[in-house]
Formats: sequence, C-alpha cells, structure tokens
Amino acid sequence: MRSYNTTYTDEKELDNFIYKHKLEKEENLFVQIFSSVIDANYCVDVAKSIKEKLPQAEIIGTTTSGGICSGKMYGNTTILSFSVFTHTSIKSKLYQINNNFSVENIQKELLLDNTKAMIIFSDGLKSDAELLIKEICAIAPEIVIAGGRAADKAFEQTYIFTENEYSDNGCVIATLSSENLLVHSDYILKWTPIGKEMIVTKVDGPILYELDGIPILEIYKKYLGDDIVKNLPSSCIPFPLLVNKESVVVARAPITLAKENAFMYAGKFELGEKVRLSFANIEEWTVNQHEYFEEIKSKAAEAAYIYSCAARKALLGDKLMDEINILESLVPTTGFFTFGEYFYQGEIAELLNVTTTFILLSESDKPQKDKKLIETGIEDFDPIKKALSNLVKVATQELEHLSTHDSLTSLYNRREYLQRIKQKIKSAQRYTTEFGLIIIDIDFFKLVNDNYGHDVGDEVLRRFAKVLRDNVREDDIVARWGGEEFVIIADHTGKEDLIHLVENLQRKIAKVSFSPVPKITASFGLTTYKDGDNSEEIFKRIDNALYVAKNNGRDQYVLG
Ligand code: GH3
Ligand code: MG
Ligand code: MG
Repeated sequence: MRSYNTTYTDEKELDNFIYKHKLEKEENLFVQIFSSVIDANYCVDVAKSIKEKLPQAEIIGTTTSGGICSGKMYGNTTILSFSVFTHTSIKSKLYQINNNFSVENIQKELLLDNTKAMIIFSDGLKSDAELLIKEICAIAPEIVIAGGRAADKAFEQTYIFTENEYSDNGCVIATLSSENLLVHSDYILKWTPIGKEMIVTKVDGPILYELDGIPILEIYKKYLGDDIVKNLPSSCIPFPLLVNKESVVVARAPITLAKENAFMYAGKFELGEKVRLSFANIEEWTVNQHEYFEEIKSKAAEAAYIYSCAARKALLGDKLMDEINILESLVPTTGFFTFGEYFYQGEIAELLNVTTTFILLSESDKPQKDKKLIETGIEDFDPIKKALSNLVKVATQELEHLSTHDSLTSLYNRREYLQRIKQKIKSAQRYTTEFGLIIIDIDFFKLVNDNYGHDVGDEVLRRFAKVLRDNVREDDIVARWGGEEFVIIADHTGKEDLIHLVENLQRKIAKVSFSPVPKITASFGLTTYKDGDNSEEIFKRIDNALYVAKNNGRDQYVLG
C-alpha cells in the first residue's frame, strides 16, 4: 500500500495532487477528510468533489479541532489523506444514530470474513461513543478498531460526513478487508496517578458531580489550589482523572462546565467507580519515547493514522509534535485531534481520552528496522519543573508502597491481598483459569516472643516472610494476613502443584536458620478455586483447613 497526505486548498491543487500520484488509476482507494472548517455543507462539498474526480474512492470525513498531515499539526486547514491499497478492499457507510440504528446493519453491510481493521468517526457531542464501541466489539471481536469522535474548537458543533450526507448524531465507518493486511494499533497515555483513590458518588453519564461525597469542584480546589477556578475547565485538563476500567486505565478530561459544581467529561463514569487524579509526566515520556518507537520499528507499516485527543494537544503543544514527528520518520502520518479516541485490539475496548492512538497498516510484512528515528530532546524543559515532577512521581510511588505493603516484612498487606484475591476470582471466572490459596500460621509463635523477646520475634517474621517470597513464582501473591499469619495466592495452580509448593516451603523453612530460635514450624491450610467461589468462601476453606492442621498437632498441611 501507499499513503499520500495533503492539505486542501483548491480544486486545481487537488487535481495536480491526484495527477502527480496517479490516483485515478487506483482501484482500492480510501480517503479520509479531516476538516477544521465546522460547516457541514462545506465538508460534504469537499467530499463530493473528490468523489467526482475519483469515483472509485471510499470517503469518510470528520470535523476536527486540528489535523495532522505528514508529521505537522494544522489548526485551520482541511487535511486529505489518500491510502492506496493493492489487495485490500474498502467499504464505508454513514449511520445516523436514531431508533432505527442497529449494529447488525454494520455487520451486514461492512464486514467481510477477512476484515482486519475498522475506522470509526462519530459525532463528538451527542451519540454514546462508549456504547457504540462496546456493541461493535461484540459483533466483531477479531477486528482492530481505531478512530475518534469528531471535534471542533468550542464544544459547540461537530459533524461526520461522506460525499452524500452528514450527521451531528451518528457515525461513519470504513472497513479494510484483505488476507494480506497487517494491522497494529496502540495508545500513548503517559499519565502518572497521584493522590488517593476516590469513589464516584454522584454522576450522570459523562457529567460528574461528586467524588467521595464532595463536589468535584471542591476536589479540584483542594488538590490543585483555589486559583484553578480562574480558567475552568481548561485549568483542570492537565490533571485528568484516571479510571481503572476492566483491562485498561482510561483518562477522563473535563471538557465543559456542565452545571455549577459539575463538569462534563469526554467519556462516562459509573457510580462506585474508583478514580485518581493524575498529572502529565511530559519529561518522563520525552525521555522514554525514543525507546518506545524503536520497538515500533519491528512492526510493518506503510501508513499511520493518528487519532489524538484535543485536550492532549491543548496541554502538550509542541511536545505532542515530538511523538507525531518521530512516527512520521518511520511512516507517512495523517489524522486529527478528537473528542475521544476509539481503541480496540484484543481485550481492550474503550473510548479513550487524552491519549494519542495510532494504527499502522501494511500490505507487506517488511518491518521498519533500517529506518532512523529523528531525535527529540528534553533540553528545553524547565529544570525545576522537571525535578518537581520527578519528586512528585517518586513520593507518590513511596506512598503507594506504604499503603499496599506491610512495613515489617515488606510483603503485601491484608488490604492489598483482599484487592488481589477479588481480581483473581474475577479473572478465574472470566478465563476459566485455576489458582491455589494457602494460609500459613507459625506454630507456637507466642513462645518465641516469650522466650527471646519481641525483637527476635520480629526478625523471625522477617526471615520467615523472605522464605515464602523466595520460594514462590514471580506472579504469585504473598501477603501478611496479620500477626504471624500469611497468605499466598498461587497463580495457575491446581491441587497437585499446590501440594508440591507447600511441601517445598516446609523443606525450606526447616533449612533456614532462625537463630537464636532453634526451630520454626508452621501449619498450612490450602485449597484451590472452585467455580462460583467468592473471596469469603474461599478464605473460609483455608481457615477451616488451618484449624484442622493446628488441632491435629501442627507442623502439617491440610487441604480444604
Ligand atoms: P499456634 O501454634 O496456635 O498458632 O500458636 P501461636 O503462639 O503462634 O498463636 P497465637 O495466636 O496465640 O500467638 C501469636 C503471637 O504472635 C501473639 C502475638 O504477640 C505475636 N505477634 C503478632 N504480631 C507480631 C509482631 O509483629 N511481632 C512479634 N514479635 N510478634 C507478633
Ligand atoms: Mg495465629
Ligand atoms: Mg501461630
């Protein structure tokens, strides 16, 4: 495939461009129009004039808050992107989102057996983009999805369009189908979570009223200072809320002040969802982005479509161009600034915000290895800001460690265990995997304290914890349940392996020196996950088993 991108000025220039690249002769031609002119008739006219010149083209378009063309960012220009495919067929259609809309139509009209990628543009202010991507993923789980919500500069009016029609409450979709098409997509986030987790306590879709029972404006004032109110909501954009969705961390930036004390975000929240404030660690990303794109060189790419958030552009400015430029040094880039990015590859199906998403397409499997990335620098950053952002990052990591780990043994604490076991049960249900759970209680530990003193008792606990940590696998969770009791979640472990694990721990405990204490033994209660277990039920089984082990004389394990 080949990719040609240009800014639109007039018919004559367009004719020249078409002639120069011999586009008339190309059968499989996909055209994307990114219009910064927010005028539906103008948009349709541009599409119409392309269609007249290139009747074979499949054309989709969207309004934007800026376009991307050949590594450059444009504020007030319309960008035309032409992708010429050799083997890939293209289908496209506009759907009004009304009572007649159904994703089954998309399935019937646009999907083929060999469809590899789907590009979606939807209006940016009216339709429910999260619902749309979830519904589409359900009918097309094998297809990579990219695209974005249409944008403008003032959150007033957005359109998506083709050469025949437009919509401010709909979507336009193109599918790319071929045995030969290689597709890779990813998203760049780079937000550092900061501060404590807060719970969404009052919300209406994308309109957020309260976190932890406190009005959202008060939250921003508390953490960002009273001056934050002077320039709302853009003053809050550099600090989006991070939400842990099922398989992905999503950033949500405020786009307008919805009502007094409430903000509208570019994406929905659910009641009870946990969120954290975050900040853009631009310096860190700038340092790491080279490495990231070196990896990308291993992917085949003949065109890159970039869909990047309007808020990210507002915040990062020229620094955002670094990531676009660096990609352009590998492959021709085109795209636009959105009010939300569609992303689906494998498990992650989300409407993202404040990210840069991109999709790489290629009909040849040749990677970009021999291309050289352009250099971008961080010299121009204010050194105090750089140091401060590092300080915030490290201090946050330290606080996080304190809140999730036990200070005596450095194992996970009980609170973290409870979080992890719930996640583990969820994923075991979802992917029908097995796991084992063990509780361990040191025998007659009170006597250690009584005979040798509390400090020796503490040291025994530390050494004991280390034996556990050193003799499980990396992915297993070892936590201090409390006192001289520990729990282990053993990943992907059935009964037999669990018994092996425990017998090995018994041997290792017997070998380690707890000097001056001559000998330490422990009792174990173990079980494996059974379908339908919740965290209390599974714990009850190990606790009962431990009780039996203690009653039977200690220094042994019992399977519950
Ligand atoms: P059993 O075999 O029935 O488990 O007997 P045990 O003595 O181990 O059990 P018990 O629950 O009676 O005693 C646990 C002791 O652990 C009592 C408590 O003082 C001690 N302990 C709990 N936390 C710590 C700690 O952080 N450091 C020290 N040194 N001792 C602790
Ligand atoms: Mg105990
Ligand atoms: Mg004990």
